[in-house]
Amino acid sequence: MDELVCRLPPSAKVLDLGAGGGSFSYASTPAQVVAIDLAFPSQRQACLGSLTAAAERLPLQDHSMDVVICNHTLEHFTELEGAVQEINRVLKVGGHLWAAVPDGFSCDDRLYRLVFQGGGHVNQFSLQSFVDLLEKETELRALHYKVLHSGLVYLNPPSPEKLPHYPRRARVLGSIPSGMLLSFLRYANHLVRFVERHFHSHLSHYGWAVVLCREETRKLAQRTVAGTLTSMPEDVNVCFSCGTGHPESILVKILRPYRFWKAYPCPSCGMTNFFSRN
Ligand SMILES: [Zn+2]
Repeated sequence: MDELVCRLPPSAKVLDLGAGGGSFSYASTPAQVVAIDLAFPSQRQACLGSLTAAAERLPLQDHSMDVVICNHTLEHFTELEGAVQEINRVLKVGGHLWAAVPDGFSCDDRLYRLVFQGGGHVNQFSLQSFVDLLEKETELRALHYKVLHSGLVYLNPPSPEKLPHYPRRARVLGSIPSGMLLSFLRYANHLVRFVERHFHSHLSHYGWAVVLCREETRKLAQRTVAGTLTSMPEDVNVCFSCGTGHPESILVKILRPYRFWKAYPCPSCGMTNFFSRN
């Protein structure tokens, strides 16, 4: 995502759809950011405009956006096809959609749905069904994708403000001493990556980030087969505390070597994570 938004000129516009407090650091792009969500938290980043609107009725002009970011949002949209058609409408020809979604059939998503009693995930994707959905009835065409790993961040100790809004089953997280839970998650996050690497499991598999381009006209005969898409390198470690992924090229500069493992302070939140090589 950073590669996409950081290289834009100042005249470009980025739509952060389902923004919450912000899907990325708005200061990292010279472009102008428009944030849209149904509601915003009290703490959010300054941008060109924060608009309260539904994804299937975007208050934006046709072909007005250079990039649309949907960071873990499309699995929550109840009117998904309408939202995808709106994204297609507001993107300029040659503009890009960056969309990250969970693998609806992964261990991680099943655990999330179990603990959070659905957790608002109303759409369940495989990579092919996700690409099909985005390309159906639109001019969007998939370019490449990246496998994303889980950081188990949804199991973090809830803040007192958030706890009352948790479903009953998930409130057990609030009854575990936070230090104990964070320690467990630090080790668990590393363990699932270790098992994934050495036993070729999909235990830490979260989902995918897919990059699509808005073509000029729909190419019906050229629907994408997901298996033929280029996969970008899986070089990201995901922080167990804040959920931010950082590429290996950044982390190797701040690694702290220990006898049997390496650790790094998360550049986003400062929490110490074990380092996993892919
Ligand atoms: Zn972090």
